[in-house]
Amino acid sequence: MAWDPAIFSPTAIRHGAASALRGMVNAVLPPQCLACDALVATPGSLCSHCWRDAKFITAPQCPICGVPYAFDPGAPGVGAICGACSRVRPLYDRARAVLHYDDLGRRLVVGFKHGDRTHGAPTFGRWLSRAGAELIADADLAAPVPLHRLRLIRRRFNQSAMLAQAICRSPAGEKVRFAPDLLLRSRHTPSQAGLNAVQRKRNVRNAFAINDRWAARIEGRRVLLVDDVFTTGATVSECARILGQAGAVAVDILTLARVDAPRGEP
Ligand SMILES: [Zn+2]
Ligand SMILES: [Zn+2]
Repeated sequence: MAWDPAIFSPTAIRHGAASALRGMVNAVLPPQCLACDALVATPGSLCSHCWRDAKFITAPQCPICGVPYAFDPGAPGVGAICGACSRVRPLYDRARAVLHYDDLGRRLVVGFKHGDRTHGAPTFGRWLSRAGAELIADADLAAPVPLHRLRLIRRRFNQSAMLAQAICRSPAGEKVRFAPDLLLRSRHTPSQAGLNAVQRKRNVRNAFAINDRWAARIEGRRVLLVDDVFTTGATVSECARILGQAGAVAVDILTLARVDAPRGEP
Protein backbone atom coordinates (compact mmCIF):
# COMPACT_ATOMS: atom_id res chain seq x y z
CA MET A 1 0.00 0.00 0.00
CA ALA A 2 1.25 3.50 -0.83
CA TRP A 3 1.03 5.90 2.11
CA ASP A 4 0.02 9.07 0.31
CA PRO A 5 0.47 12.03 2.71
CA ALA A 6 -2.61 13.66 1.19
CA ILE A 7 -4.71 10.73 2.38
CA PHE A 8 -3.00 9.59 5.59
CA SER A 9 -1.83 11.62 8.58
CA PRO A 10 1.92 11.55 9.47
CA THR A 11 1.09 9.42 12.53
CA ALA A 12 -0.76 6.93 10.37
CA ILE A 13 2.21 6.77 8.00
CA ARG A 14 4.61 6.22 10.94
CA HIS A 15 2.34 3.49 12.20
CA GLY A 16 1.89 2.08 8.74
CA ALA A 17 3.67 -1.13 9.65
CA ALA A 18 1.23 -1.75 12.51
CA SER A 19 -1.72 -1.06 10.23
CA ALA A 20 -0.30 -3.35 7.57
CA LEU A 21 0.08 -6.04 10.21
CA ARG A 22 -3.52 -5.51 11.32
CA GLY A 23 -4.50 -5.79 7.65
CA MET A 24 -2.73 -9.16 7.46
CA VAL A 25 -4.48 -10.34 10.63
CA ASN A 26 -7.81 -9.19 9.18
CA ALA A 27 -6.99 -11.10 6.02
CA VAL A 28 -6.87 -14.41 7.89
CA LEU A 29 -10.02 -13.72 9.94
CA PRO A 30 -13.41 -14.32 8.32
CA PRO A 31 -14.42 -11.04 6.64
CA GLN A 32 -17.23 -8.95 8.17
CA CYS A 33 -20.07 -7.14 6.44
CA LEU A 34 -19.28 -3.46 5.71
CA ALA A 35 -22.35 -2.34 7.67
CA CYS A 36 -22.74 -4.87 10.53
CA ASP A 37 -20.89 -7.61 12.36
CA ALA A 38 -22.20 -10.50 10.25
CA LEU A 39 -19.60 -12.65 8.54
CA VAL A 40 -19.52 -12.58 4.75
CA ALA A 41 -17.87 -14.77 2.13
CA THR A 42 -16.13 -11.92 0.28
CA PRO A 43 -14.16 -9.14 2.01
CA GLY A 44 -15.57 -5.65 1.36
CA SER A 45 -19.16 -6.77 0.78
CA LEU A 46 -22.55 -6.55 2.48
CA CYS A 47 -24.31 -9.46 4.18
CA SER A 48 -27.62 -10.55 2.66
CA HIS A 49 -29.67 -8.61 5.26
CA CYS A 50 -27.80 -5.34 4.71
CA TRP A 51 -27.85 -5.85 0.94
CA ARG A 52 -31.63 -6.19 1.12
CA ASP A 53 -31.84 -2.97 3.19
CA ALA A 54 -29.44 -0.98 0.96
CA LYS A 55 -31.33 1.81 -0.79
CA PHE A 56 -29.37 2.71 -3.89
CA ILE A 57 -30.38 5.98 -5.53
CA THR A 58 -31.71 5.52 -9.04
CA ALA A 59 -33.43 7.63 -11.70
CA PRO A 60 -35.66 9.59 -11.84
CA GLN A 61 -33.72 12.35 -10.12
CA CYS A 62 -32.98 16.05 -10.53
CA PRO A 63 -30.35 16.29 -13.32
CA ILE A 64 -28.55 18.98 -11.31
CA CYS A 65 -28.56 18.22 -7.56
CA GLY A 66 -29.47 14.54 -7.97
CA VAL A 67 -32.37 14.56 -5.51
CA PRO A 68 -34.36 11.38 -6.25
CA TYR A 69 -38.00 11.80 -7.25
CA ALA A 70 -40.75 9.58 -5.88
CA PHE A 71 -42.56 9.92 -9.21
CA ASP A 72 -41.16 10.15 -12.71
CA PRO A 73 -41.63 13.77 -13.87
CA GLY A 74 -41.55 12.63 -17.50
CA ALA A 75 -38.89 12.97 -20.17
CA PRO A 76 -35.59 14.46 -18.99
CA GLY A 77 -35.32 18.16 -19.70
CA VAL A 78 -35.76 21.55 -18.12
CA GLY A 79 -39.03 20.43 -16.54
CA ALA A 80 -37.25 17.69 -14.62
CA ILE A 81 -35.14 20.15 -12.60
CA CYS A 82 -36.23 20.19 -8.94
CA GLY A 83 -37.80 23.21 -7.26
CA ALA A 84 -34.69 24.12 -5.24
CA CYS A 85 -32.44 24.10 -8.34
CA SER A 86 -35.04 26.08 -10.36
CA ARG A 87 -35.04 28.79 -7.69
CA VAL A 88 -31.27 28.96 -7.14
CA ARG A 89 -28.79 27.20 -9.39
CA PRO A 90 -26.12 25.47 -7.29
CA LEU A 91 -22.50 26.55 -7.73
CA TYR A 92 -21.63 23.01 -8.82
CA ASP A 93 -22.86 21.49 -12.08
CA ARG A 94 -24.18 18.05 -11.08
CA ALA A 95 -24.31 16.05 -7.85
CA ARG A 96 -24.82 12.28 -7.64
CA ALA A 97 -24.75 9.83 -4.74
CA VAL A 98 -24.77 6.04 -4.38
CA LEU A 99 -27.10 5.49 -1.43
CA HIS A 100 -29.64 7.22 0.73
CA TYR A 101 -28.18 8.33 4.06
CA ASP A 102 -30.61 6.21 6.07
CA ASP A 103 -29.70 3.86 8.90
CA LEU A 104 -27.71 1.54 6.65
CA GLY A 105 -26.09 4.41 4.72
CA ARG A 106 -24.99 5.95 8.01
CA ARG A 107 -23.52 2.68 9.31
CA LEU A 108 -21.56 2.28 6.07
CA VAL A 109 -20.17 5.82 6.20
CA VAL A 110 -19.42 5.74 9.94
CA GLY A 111 -17.77 2.31 9.69
CA PHE A 112 -15.60 3.61 6.86
CA LYS A 113 -14.80 6.96 8.46
CA HIS A 114 -14.27 6.08 12.11
CA GLY A 115 -13.94 2.31 12.10
CA ASP A 116 -11.29 0.23 10.47
CA ARG A 117 -13.43 -0.70 7.48
CA THR A 118 -11.19 0.98 4.92
CA HIS A 119 -11.09 -2.33 3.03
CA GLY A 120 -14.52 -1.27 1.72
CA ALA A 121 -12.86 1.37 -0.51
CA PRO A 122 -12.68 -0.80 -3.70
CA THR A 123 -16.37 -1.77 -3.29
CA PHE A 124 -17.34 1.87 -2.74
CA GLY A 125 -15.22 2.76 -5.79
CA ARG A 126 -17.27 0.35 -7.91
CA TRP A 127 -20.56 1.72 -6.58
CA LEU A 128 -19.41 5.32 -7.13
CA SER A 129 -18.32 4.43 -10.68
CA ARG A 130 -21.84 3.25 -11.43
CA ALA A 131 -23.73 6.10 -9.74
CA GLY A 132 -21.40 8.73 -11.20
CA ALA A 133 -20.68 7.16 -14.61
CA GLU A 134 -21.61 10.30 -16.57
CA LEU A 135 -19.66 12.58 -14.23
CA ILE A 136 -16.56 10.38 -14.26
CA ALA A 137 -16.63 10.14 -18.08
CA ASP A 138 -16.43 13.95 -18.29
CA ALA A 139 -13.92 14.55 -15.46
CA ASP A 140 -10.27 15.58 -15.84
CA LEU A 141 -9.39 15.68 -12.14
CA ALA A 142 -10.84 13.88 -9.09
CA ALA A 143 -10.27 15.61 -5.76
CA PRO A 144 -11.55 15.02 -2.22
CA VAL A 145 -13.08 17.57 0.11
CA PRO A 146 -10.03 18.14 2.32
CA LEU A 147 -9.85 17.64 6.07
CA HIS A 148 -8.11 20.17 8.28
CA ARG A 149 -4.63 19.01 9.35
CA LEU A 150 -5.74 18.53 12.97
CA ARG A 151 -8.76 16.47 11.97
CA LEU A 152 -6.61 14.40 9.60
CA ILE A 153 -4.29 13.59 12.52
CA ARG A 154 -7.22 12.52 14.69
CA ARG A 155 -8.91 10.44 11.98
CA ARG A 156 -5.59 9.13 10.58
CA PHE A 157 -6.86 9.25 7.00
CA ASN A 158 -9.12 11.31 4.75
CA GLN A 159 -11.99 9.00 3.82
CA SER A 160 -12.99 11.23 0.88
CA ALA A 161 -9.47 11.04 -0.57
CA MET A 162 -9.66 7.26 -0.32
CA LEU A 163 -12.97 7.29 -2.24
CA ALA A 164 -11.53 9.59 -4.93
CA GLN A 165 -8.55 7.28 -5.27
CA ALA A 166 -10.83 4.24 -5.54
CA ILE A 167 -12.72 5.96 -8.39
CA CYS A 168 -9.48 6.72 -10.26
CA ARG A 169 -8.37 3.10 -9.79
CA SER A 170 -11.64 1.72 -11.20
CA PRO A 171 -11.81 0.99 -14.96
CA ALA A 172 -14.28 3.88 -15.42
CA GLY A 173 -11.89 6.37 -13.81
CA GLU A 174 -8.58 5.38 -15.34
CA LYS A 175 -8.37 8.56 -17.46
CA VAL A 176 -9.17 10.81 -14.49
CA ARG A 177 -6.18 12.31 -12.69
CA PHE A 178 -6.23 11.76 -8.92
CA ALA A 179 -5.58 15.12 -7.24
CA PRO A 180 -5.68 14.36 -3.49
CA ASP A 181 -4.24 17.74 -2.45
CA LEU A 182 -5.98 19.97 -5.00
CA LEU A 183 -7.84 21.78 -2.22
CA LEU A 184 -6.60 22.71 1.24
CA ARG A 185 -8.47 23.69 4.39
CA SER A 186 -7.32 27.21 5.09
CA ARG A 187 -8.93 27.24 8.52
CA HIS A 188 -10.35 24.79 11.02
CA THR A 189 -14.17 24.82 11.03
CA PRO A 190 -16.48 23.36 13.67
CA SER A 191 -18.30 20.19 12.57
CA GLN A 192 -21.32 20.83 10.33
CA ALA A 193 -23.39 18.38 12.42
CA GLY A 194 -26.40 20.02 14.03
CA LEU A 195 -26.20 23.19 11.92
CA ASN A 196 -28.98 24.32 9.59
CA ALA A 197 -28.42 25.18 5.92
CA VAL A 198 -27.66 28.88 6.53
CA GLN A 199 -25.28 28.12 9.42
CA ARG A 200 -23.53 25.43 7.37
CA LYS A 201 -22.95 27.87 4.53
CA ARG A 202 -21.54 30.50 6.90
CA ASN A 203 -19.41 27.91 8.71
CA VAL A 204 -17.48 26.88 5.57
CA ARG A 205 -17.25 30.31 3.94
CA ASN A 206 -13.60 30.92 2.93
CA ALA A 207 -12.57 27.67 4.64
CA PHE A 208 -10.82 26.29 1.54
CA ALA A 209 -7.94 27.31 -0.70
CA ILE A 210 -6.43 26.04 -3.93
CA ASN A 211 -3.09 24.31 -3.43
CA ASP A 212 -0.34 26.32 -5.20
CA ARG A 213 0.96 23.07 -6.70
CA TRP A 214 -2.25 22.72 -8.72
CA ALA A 215 -3.15 26.37 -9.33
CA ALA A 216 -1.81 26.39 -12.92
CA ARG A 217 -3.54 23.08 -13.80
CA ILE A 218 -7.18 23.95 -13.06
CA GLU A 219 -7.93 26.40 -15.87
CA GLY A 220 -10.29 24.81 -18.41
CA ARG A 221 -10.53 21.52 -16.45
CA ARG A 222 -13.56 19.61 -15.24
CA VAL A 223 -13.23 18.67 -11.59
CA LEU A 224 -14.96 15.77 -9.87
CA LEU A 225 -15.23 16.57 -6.18
CA VAL A 226 -15.62 13.51 -3.93
CA ASP A 227 -17.03 13.39 -0.40
CA ASP A 228 -18.65 10.80 1.86
CA VAL A 229 -22.04 12.44 2.50
CA PHE A 230 -24.02 15.13 0.69
CA THR A 231 -26.15 16.98 3.25
CA THR A 232 -27.16 20.51 2.21
CA GLY A 233 -24.34 20.91 -0.30
CA ALA A 234 -22.83 23.87 1.62
CA THR A 235 -19.32 22.41 1.81
CA VAL A 236 -19.11 21.22 -1.81
CA SER A 237 -20.66 24.49 -3.03
CA GLU A 238 -17.93 26.47 -1.29
CA CYS A 239 -15.29 24.20 -2.87
CA ALA A 240 -16.98 24.62 -6.28
CA ARG A 241 -16.94 28.40 -5.84
CA ILE A 242 -13.18 28.62 -5.39
CA LEU A 243 -12.52 26.02 -8.11
CA GLY A 244 -14.63 28.15 -10.46
CA GLN A 245 -12.60 31.22 -9.50
CA ALA A 246 -9.44 29.24 -10.31
CA GLY A 247 -10.76 28.57 -13.83
CA ALA A 248 -12.44 25.13 -13.58
CA VAL A 249 -15.09 24.92 -16.32
CA ALA A 250 -17.23 22.43 -14.39
CA VAL A 251 -17.37 20.99 -10.89
CA ASP A 252 -19.38 17.81 -10.35
CA ILE A 253 -20.00 16.22 -6.95
CA LEU A 254 -19.96 12.49 -6.23
CA THR A 255 -20.71 11.13 -2.76
CA LEU A 256 -21.29 7.76 -1.16
CA ALA A 257 -24.54 8.85 0.50
CA ARG A 258 -27.10 11.62 0.30
CA VAL A 259 -29.34 12.96 3.05
CA ASP A 260 -33.02 12.59 2.10
CA ALA A 261 -34.01 16.22 2.33
CA PRO A 262 -34.35 19.13 -0.03
CA ARG A 263 -31.06 20.95 -0.55
CA GLY A 264 -32.23 23.78 1.65
CA GLU A 265 -29.68 26.19 0.27
CA PRO A 266 -30.91 29.74 0.56
ZN1 LIG B 1 -24.62 -6.66 7.32
ZN1 LIG C 1 -32.17 19.82 -7.95
